[in-house]
Amino acid sequence: MNILLSSHPLHISQRHLPIGCLQKLGQGDIETLLAEQDEEAEEAQKAFILCRTCRHPITSVEHAIEMLGHHRHVFANPAGSVFEIGCFSLANGCVNYGEPTAKHSWFAGYQWRYALCGNCQAHLGWHFSPSGTGPSFYGLILANLIEEQTG
Ligand SMILES: [Zn+2]
Repeated sequence: MNILLSSHPLHISQRHLPIGCLQKLGQGDIETLLAEQDEEAEEAQKAFILCRTCRHPITSVEHAIEMLGHHRHVFANPAGSVFEIGCFSLANGCVNYGEPTAKHSWFAGYQWRYALCGNCQAHLGWHFSPSGTGPSFYGLILANLIEEQTG
């Protein structure tokens, strides 16, 4: 009887202790969740952009740039095909194909070559290099790309 009476309060205090810990963990969980959200936001900036055909990594969101004030451009080639392209400073997943030419170039002062998927050779867009000095860039056909699904 004495043992039961003395163990009873101890039992209660043991029940209270975990609840107190849970409340502290709850606060920690919130902070962890906030930190994870920040990490997700950073990962979104580094999200890979893949070849739609074979899912080969082509470039990433962080390489998106603006040319003539816009990332996206809509152009028609001399054959009348319309392309919506996005501009990227780098696209390491591409292989450039053909001799650079300024003929019908959509960007004045830039020569273009075809940019193909380095894995399946799908036509993903064009590599533009300046006739003079300056950085080159890629104009990639957005319909031929997908953003990597995270999570
Ligand atoms: Zn591909």
